[in-house]
Order: sequence, then structure tokens, then C-alpha cells
Amino acid sequence: MVRGALACAVVLGVALAWPGWTAGLGAQAVPAPVGAQTSVLVIVDPGHGGDDPGAIGPGGTEEKALTLSIAQRLRALLQAQPGFRALLTREDDRRLTADQRAAFSNAAGGQVFISVHANASPSPTTAGFEIGSLIAVDGPPGDTESVDRAPLLPVASGPPRRVAVLRWNRAQASHQALAAMLAEDLGRRFAGFGGPGPRGVYRAPLRPLVAVAAPAVLVEFGYLSNNDEELALATEERQIAIAQAIVQTLEATTPMVVR
Ligand SMILES: [Zn+2]
Repeated sequence: MVRGALACAVVLGVALAWPGWTAGLGAQAVPAPVGAQTSVLVIVDPGHGGDDPGAIGPGGTEEKALTLSIAQRLRALLQAQPGFRALLTREDDRRLTADQRAAFSNAAGGQVFISVHANASPSPTTAGFEIGSLIAVDGPPGDTESVDRAPLLPVASGPPRRVAVLRWNRAQASHQALAAMLAEDLGRRFAGFGGPGPRGVYRAPLRPLVAVAAPAVLVEFGYLSNNDEELALATEERQIAIAQAIVQTLEATTPMVVR
């Protein structure tokens, strides 16, 4: 469940694509990078948390717990997979804003961002997965990056480091095409989970993704408001199958997504 479409504030913020920067927006502390990393860093973002339960199924399943469970399974699979590393935006039951989640990813140097959610509908018969990526956000052309004017920041040791500074609401703009490809591939692999929901694989001005400086997708793996899907999603078998499908997509698309 995702509340609200794109809030197109023309507020100048920055998203720093620099691994050494600790998230300044209140997200969890980011581990310092250790040496040269050749593996792909996947940021898995369990939706909701804390006093925001997200959708709640008729049987009482809370979206925030389901997303964390699947995110943890996905991380375990990725950590066991050569060539991948994974971090979660939250490890426990806490509330984070969309910008805190994006800041965590940008600060850690995330190369792919996957936000996981379940869905809800007033109609108990609505079912199916939906996978979204961002479509054009507002802003003048050429507003995406200002690398030429990137400031030099002092570092603890060694020479000052130049960082890429983006307007926060344009961070995802240059990754939209790759994110859409990622979403399409996920859609094909999710086809066995009861088929697509009303939106299927779609593009929209998704507020949770705008500030992420890497290809980002929002995966809603079923409708908790549907009794059958709630029961299926609560099983270990389905959760692992979902995590495996995401790993397969990452394996297949990484050469195109991470360059
Ligand atoms: Zn949600």
C-alpha cells in the first residue's frame, strides 16, 4: 500500500550518492564501506513499520510484518549469492519516511533499490501482484545532476572527495528506463503468483522512489485484503518463492542495470 502520489515540492534538497556520507535524515546508521567492493549492493526496503502497519488483512496479517519477513528472506538469499550484497532500510519494527529510506540507500551506495509492500482494496475479490517504477517527475530539463559543480568535501584521510549532488526530487529521473526494465522482468517472474492485479506492471509518479539515486522499483506482492492471498502470503513457501523470483530478476538484469 502506498499513500499519496508524487508530492511535487520545489524544495531544494540533496541526495548524496557518496558511500561515506551518513544518512542525515534520521535513517539508520550506514555501515562504512570496507575496501573495494565488486559485488552489487541491493537495498531492500520493507514498507511501513512502527505506528504505520500498512494494510491489514481480514485475518489480522499486518503489511509491515510481512514486508520485513520477505525482505529478510530476500537478504539471506542475496548474501548467499556470489556477486551480491544486501542491506535493509529497517531491521525492526520502526517507522521511516520515504526520504529516510532513500537517504539510507544513497548513503550506502545502493545500486538497486527494491521497496516491498502488500496491497489493499475495498473489494475483497481484488487480487494479484503489482510492480511499479517511477515515471517522469516535474522539473526543468537539465535539473538532474550538477556533477560539474559538485562540491569538494573534506574527508578524514586523503584528498577531498567530490560528491555528486542531485536535487532530491530528481534522483530517480536518470534511472527510470532501467527501473522500468527491472519491473517488467519482475512481472514475468511473478506471473506464477496468481497473475497480475489491476495495475500489473505500471509506471507512476511514485513518491517513495523519487529520491533514490539508483534503479528503484516498488513491489506489491499481493492483496492482503483478499483472504486467499493473505493466507498464501503468510506461508514460508510463498515468501521464499517471492524472494527467489526477485533474486532471479536481479541475476538476469544486473549486467544492464549496474554499469
Ligand atoms: Zn505498503
